[in-house]
Formats: sequence, structure tokens, C-alpha cells
Amino acid sequence: MEIQQLTKEIRDNYLERMKKRSPEKLSTSWYQDDLLYAGNGKSLFIIIPSPGCSWALSDAGGCTMCSYISDCSLEPIGDDLIIELFKKELSKHIDTIKSDGQTMPIAIKIFASGSFLNPQEVSKKARNEILKIIASIDEIKEIVTESRPEYVKKEILEEIFSIVGTKLFEVSIGLESQDDLIREEKINKGFTKEDFEKAVNIIKEIDSENNDYVSKAKAYIFVKPILTSEKEAIGEAIATAKYVESVGVSRVSFCPATIHRGTLIERLWRKGSYHPPWIWSLIDIINETRENLNIPSLMDTSGFGSRRGPYNCKKCNKYFKHAIIDSNISQSPIEEYKCECKKKWIAEIKSSTLNKSKTRPKHLPLI
Ligand code: SF4
Ligand SMILES: [Zn+2]
Repeated sequence: MEIQQLTKEIRDNYLERMKKRSPEKLSTSWYQDDLLYAGNGKSLFIIIPSPGCSWALSDAGGCTMCSYISDCSLEPIGDDLIIELFKKELSKHIDTIKSDGQTMPIAIKIFASGSFLNPQEVSKKARNEILKIIASIDEIKEIVTESRPEYVKKEILEEIFSIVGTKLFEVSIGLESQDDLIREEKINKGFTKEDFEKAVNIIKEIDSENNDYVSKAKAYIFVKPILTSEKEAIGEAIATAKYVESVGVSRVSFCPATIHRGTLIERLWRKGSYHPPWIWSLIDIINETRENLNIPSLMDTSGFGSRRGPYNCKKCNKYFKHAIIDSNISQSPIEEYKCECKKKWIAEIKSSTLNKSKTRPKHLPLI
């Protein structure tokens, strides 16, 4: 497929130039307010080093917008080192967790810049050791991981629950779009809606077959793939959220496009053929889903207001970033806030119906 050749070529070029970092430099952690299944609480985020996402390293070249591979070692890492680095990051926060855990729920989010459930990326030994450590900390009530759907297997989840017991375990899957064509041709995701539903069903089965186990699925939804107009991007994100709720996903997380280095999306952006979404579009998506969905929806605010991220104007970028962060916790809609730049956004939305343009028009009459 052409998109795969192009993605692979761009990625290979980038990886050749990329400065490799040691696993010690790749692991990191932070601790912040978050909305948990149990309500408002705190989450500890830990990035563990991994050799890299198998899909990004394959001949298919990976997804058109993602460069997590540049946060990976690209070579095997010993299990003991991964476990040691996990412990090191955890130790930075453990006292705070023990104290906060007395008054609020605590979650841990383990990110491996790929699939935590893929033994090629995080070995069974490293995965189980990490989970055993978490299982021993009473204050941590929820565990969040990420995986592509092909690695969501019943036997792996059963093994995980035999370790974590009654702690809630969530698998976040990057479906990105409910439209197979968009996912295939514009994102190069490499799996179908059926693959996604199969994984969600396995997660639900584990949950319903055993009274002690709390197994949840979350979906990542990518906002504004390449070759998509602003208006189409809003409609597709909302349609995807409705679809994932209908198949039993417990919450959604919208990921608005930011321009990662060494990706196809970056190449189009450099040529002026792509632009990350307006923040106004993201507000539309949040308000619509908060009103019409029964499951929580979260909006990632990474890159907001930067040259490579979602952008309105210098006057309101910051305001909306904070308003969205607050609303992720409260799950309330974003309140009206007046800014001149909204006229430009409305003009772009209206014109995309008329001229079918997928790129941002330079001169539009404002209303
Ligand atoms: S989005 Fe996920 S599956 Fe796609 S390349 Fe990035 S890490 Fe791999
Ligand atoms: Zn503005």
C-alpha cells in the first residue's frame, strides 16, 4: 500500500538521523490530578523504556501521526533494567501516594510507547514483575495500560488479574476512527473495527465472568487525521465516540493532532497541506460528547497553543487549555468565552462545505 511505503520511508529516514538515548534517559514519571473511575483523585504516570512499537518498526511503517518510536531504545532492553527503572520512578512518588491514598483514589498509568500487552515490547517477566509491585501497594486502586487490539488476549488478561486481583485494570486502545477507510488510508493503523470489537469483548468477558475482576476498555480517538477538513474532523470524532460507547467502551480520550517529528503528518504540515485542529473544534467535540454520551470523555491538551499543536489565537489558547483541563476532571461542558478568532474558525467550517478543501484556506470572508 502506498501510504505504508511513504510512512516507512519517512520513518526510516528519521530514525537514521535520530540520536539514540539510553533506557535510563527514556524512563520518566509525573503525578497529577485526574479523573478516575472512582472519582476525582491522582494519577501517577510512568513511562517505561521499550525497544519500540512493533507496528512502527514493521514494514508497514506505523501510524502516520505517531513518533513514539523516537522515545524508544530501538534495541532489546534487559528485563531487570526495565523493572529497576520502573522501581526508581515509583520510588520518587511512593510517599505522596501513601499519604494521598488515605483521602483519595490513586491510579497508575504505565506507558511503554507502544503496547504493554505485547511480549515483544514488554516481556512477560517485566510485565508481571511490574504488576506484582503495583499489587503490593494498597493505595493504588486503578491500573491503566495501552495496547493495540491484537495483543489483548484472554489468557494474558487472566494472568494479569491473577496478579492484580481486585484492582481495576484498564486497557486503552487507539482505535482513532470508527471509519475503516480513514483508519486504514489516512492513519495507517493496520487493524479493523472487528479487531477492535474483538478486543473490547475479551475485556468485557473477563469483567463479567469473574465477580472480583474489574476490567475496562478505553478508546483513544484521533482528532483530525491527514486529508480531513476541520468540519469532517469534528463529525468523525463525535461519530467515533458514539460508536465506541455502543460497543461497550467505558471511557474515551480524544487526542487532537500535534505534529510529531519524522511522520507523514509532519511532511504534509511542512508543505502547508495540513494544519492541526482549531481549539474551537475541540470544544465542539467535548460539548457534544458530554451532552450525548453516558461515558466520560477526556481531551488531551498536549501541544495546545504551540506551533505544532491545536491553536486558536494568542489571546485565548491558554484560557481554553486550562478550561479543558478543568473540564476533564469535572466532565462539565466548556462555557462560552468570546474571542475574535472564532469568526475565522466559523468561516473555515462553512467554507469546507462549499469548496471541499482539506487544507486551511488562506483568505476567507468573515461574517
Ligand atoms: S499510535 Fe500506537 S500503534 Fe501507532 S505507531 Fe504509535 S505506538 Fe504504534
Ligand atoms: Zn482567540
